Amino acid sequence: QHYLQQIEKYAHLNAFNEVFGQEALGLAEQLDNRMQAGEPTGRLAGLVIGIKDNICYKGHQVTASSKILDGFTSIYSATIVERLLAEDVIIIGRCNCDEFAMGASNESSYYGAVKNQADESRVAGGSSGGSAVAVQAGMCHATIGTDTGGSVRQPASFCGVIGLKPTYGRVSRHGIIAYASSFDQVGPVTQSVEDAALLLEVMAGPDDYDGTLAQVSVPAYSQELNTQVAPQKIAYLKEALESEGVDAEVKETLRKAIDQLKAAGHTVEPVSFEYLDYVVPTYYVLTMAEASSNLARYDGVHYGYRSPNAVDLVTTYKRSRSEGFGKEVKRRIMLGTFVLSAGYYDAYYAKAQKVRRLIKERTDEILQHYNFILSPTAPEPAFKIGRQEKDPVVTYLEDIFTVQASLAGVPAISLPVQNNSAGLPLGLQFITKAFAEAELLEFSKYFL
Ligand code: GLN
Repeated sequence: QHYLQQIEKYAHLNAFNEVFGQEALGLAEQLDNRMQAGEPTGRLAGLVIGIKDNICYKGHQVTASSKILDGFTSIYSATIVERLLAEDVIIIGRCNCDEFAMGASNESSYYGAVKNQADESRVAGGSSGGSAVAVQAGMCHATIGTDTGGSVRQPASFCGVIGLKPTYGRVSRHGIIAYASSFDQVGPVTQSVEDAALLLEVMAGPDDYDGTLAQVSVPAYSQELNTQVAPQKIAYLKEALESEGVDAEVKETLRKAIDQLKAAGHTVEPVSFEYLDYVVPTYYVLTMAEASSNLARYDGVHYGYRSPNAVDLVTTYKRSRSEGFGKEVKRRIMLGTFVLSAGYYDAYYAKAQKVRRLIKERTDEILQHYNFILSPTAPEPAFKIGRQEKDPVVTYLEDIFTVQASLAGVPAISLPVQNNSAGLPLGLQFITKAFAEAELLEFSKYFL
């Protein structure tokens, strides 16, 4: 009831596409009865969460914030939803996001932009903007987002909460609406590191429905959060302090963290990441290519929206897609189709795959010498709603610090550090080695 009141109070922030109010109250009551009767309950009993609206929950609508899926109901639940429910979580609603998780401002949603609670004229960040604001404004205890190139971390940073992207292959993607399959990962958005650890622990691990998962056991992350850590070796991105594209207060926050960590006995050294200029173009060539293929399934026949103006098969495809997809999604389908086309495949797609390998190798190499790579999560604080309209490339550059971990498939976390002089939250990102989430979470707990 408390959370439903909060959701109502902050309805104008537009964080939820749908609230499962009565159902959530019913689940809470059932759980209460079971507890009163002394029955055993799960590890997340009573935890109220929201899920991003690209995660399938059986019997509930799921739209990826797109008109093309408006009214579509999931016929099965994502593996992560089943695992969370098995631990007695209460899902209170589905959170707004950028259409098909494409964006860094949550302005491309068919259901409208999400507003940042810290300043309602500003964006929430994206694509999991609704998930971040729901936690920021206390509309639920935690949320689950997805992160392809920063979609959990960047909105977390804009909203002053914690966002974790696990290693690629750590958490099942079964039942998650695909954007770019070789990048997509599910991650928690929370107020505390303990919650992030516990939610990851419940969601992670092998699943017969996702062949890309690593067959490695899941540590008890939540049990490994000692606050005393040994001196660590930390690399920070030299370019983050030098680049003109990074906001002055963001640089200042990074400098302060470096000084603090040094004073606490850690080794903190600058590292130059020579591929930094290539991470954004490489990410966009590859994700748009994968998206153009993944989104081919929305044909007006199998799912969701079918144009009332269609008269035959070809117009069913053309009109349903033309009317059902928004501008940003169409832009990406066209560019993705272009880079995969016969004459351009080698020049763009194949080249980007090679650059991805270089980025991954260099990232792994740095992580052989250092425990963590530190950088800002985003180059600036939350920007004004409406800015992206003029130039989409400006928004793509938002991802400069987040896509490296996505291209390399390694885990990364965004931690809220402080607000800038205008009261806007700023976040710092720590990246670590594949499958080293336990160390990342432990260090995050210590750092905060
Ligand atoms: N901003 C990035 C993009 O638009 C990241 C989105 C995401 O992680 N889903 O692709």
